[in-house]
Amino acid sequence: MRLTISPLRLELRDTFRIAREASDVRDNLLVKITDDDGAEGLGEAAPSRFYGQSADSARAALQRLQIPAGTDALLLEDLLEGLRPQLAGQGAAMAAVDMALHDLVAKKLNLPLCRFFSLDPDKVPQTSFTIGLAPLDEMKRKAQEAAGYPILKVKLGTDRDRDIIRTIRSVSDLPIRVDANASWSVEAAIRNIAWLRDEGIELVEQPVAKDDLEGLRRVTQASPLPIIADESAMTPRDVVALRGCVHGINIKLAKCGGLRQAMKMIHVARAQQMSIMLGCFIESSLGITAAAHLTPLIDFADLDGHLLIRDDPIRGVQLRNGRLMIPDRPGIGVQPVTDGGFT
Ligand code: MG
Repeated sequence: MRLTISPLRLELRDTFRIAREASDVRDNLLVKITDDDGAEGLGEAAPSRFYGQSADSARAALQRLQIPAGTDALLLEDLLEGLRPQLAGQGAAMAAVDMALHDLVAKKLNLPLCRFFSLDPDKVPQTSFTIGLAPLDEMKRKAQEAAGYPILKVKLGTDRDRDIIRTIRSVSDLPIRVDANASWSVEAAIRNIAWLRDEGIELVEQPVAKDDLEGLRRVTQASPLPIIADESAMTPRDVVALRGCVHGINIKLAKCGGLRQAMKMIHVARAQQMSIMLGCFIESSLGITAAAHLTPLIDFADLDGHLLIRDDPIRGVQLRNGRLMIPDRPGIGVQPVTDGGFT
């Protein structure tokens, strides 16, 4: 099998700001795996600084990757578990390889990926549209522009969180999910969430620090709203540790290392009666469409990273009435927007 890596530079429509960082451009990677029969699969790496990754670190890890000669791609479980230690600490690179191999195998079997997973593509939930941190008038304008989406996700974690919610509520009746991105203290979280309940908020994501599981437990016990762990939930083992600390988890392919690992997290979470969100980073329609194939298994979709970029080079999942329409094509089902094809 041959692996090729290309830069995938994504420019954002507007500066995207959350509690801890801001960005105007994301340097992702496009990974193509070609097998000995000439079959191809595509994957996207969306490295995250928060998890100690960059385009350079992901590329270096992928360049070192050794896929054993003569490997049968259909033995995906063994193949991916064999590769995982080589990409330790590089979840985004691992996710790209995992996506590309799933794409390749599902194409060989002539099945859309969701069918390969035995899932019903009509059972996809509506997705939320994210409003990043910005001056209040800009957040207000974005909430007005987002009127066509069914659900808003609003980033919080500032000293003006209540003003943000009041401002958005003044122009929008849509359900709102909020994400503090690990930036509140336990006390502030408990206070804020009591207030948010009266503003018609649906759920709260990652109120306190990533490693503060006891803090998450205290917030959850006091919270009238569902608490979802995102930064705290990277691996299936984390999901076990989060038992009793949160109501649910947010899974992202680039965070956990791909579709296979995401599926394991979904089953571990379900066994503990947790709810499940499937989220994303800033990604092209490749990474977003790959994740969309798992949405028949989850409760809350937050797959809007491709909507925040200009000139998405890839065409895949489409939105209809806020629901993700999974392409009815073999594999992940994406196509290049231009005729030049994928490099
Ligand atoms: Mg989040």
